[in-house]
Amino acid sequence: MRKKIVAGNWKMNNSLKEGLELAGRINELLKMRGKKEADVILAPPFIFLSDITKMIDPQLISVAAQNCASEEKGAFTGEISAEMVASTGATHVIIGHSERRSYFGEDDRMLNKKVNIALKNNLYPIFCCGEILNQREKGIHFEVIQKQLENGLFSLDSSEFSRVIIAYEPVWAIGTGVTATPEQAQEMHQHIRGLVDKKYGSSISEELTILYGGSCKPSNAGELFKNPDVDGGLIGGASLVAEDFISIIYSF
Ligand code: PGA
Repeated sequence: MRKKIVAGNWKMNNSLKEGLELAGRINELLKMRGKKEADVILAPPFIFLSDITKMIDPQLISVAAQNCASEEKGAFTGEISAEMVASTGATHVIIGHSERRSYFGEDDRMLNKKVNIALKNNLYPIFCCGEILNQREKGIHFEVIQKQLENGLFSLDSSEFSRVIIAYEPVWAIGTGVTATPEQAQEMHQHIRGLVDKKYGSSISEELTILYGGSCKPSNAGELFKNPDVDGGLIGGASLVAEDFISIIYSF
């Protein structure tokens, strides 16, 4: 069955102490609220991974890294490998976030390498795609997403691809307070599922979890998640406040 997921991308926020408090609070609130429809993932900075995987209840929360290196190991000062991520107990890794693509020059070729290396280390990649405002205004957003998926993911075989989660994050909506309308989100998610259907067939495309990201918050999560192809969210800002994140998780 297709999984619903709400993932919190903390980006470069919080000290270790604050991060542990936030994860602890989310864990506690999930325990109190009980049954939920969505799986929950937290993506803290690398250096918190090990501590957070030890303190959370793995039945309630999975842990993701925000990135991993495109090389396996060796002389790459400052890099963190997929193997290192997996060794902390983290199970997922975000790959190709638009901030990585634009500020750190990560291109499709490199992202494809990262996806492969993540899979090789038994991590589930959360692969991000999204167009910039100018591309949407020009009306080429569907093609842009198609290219990102073809270059980043479509070299995978079916069994590899079935471990991938996709996050559609229109860049103009990330951290801006401007959210895609539920119609815009549904339209793109349907497009993505259609491309996957063509490439891998309907049993894989129907199982694929496609998250929406970009200024998703308690006040709009319900409307976004109502759409048949929106299977949850990748949440930035609102995942830093435990109560807001919890309210998004229970928005289904
Ligand atoms: P935002 O970020 O919710 O703060 O817009 C989403 C993301 O970048 O994953």
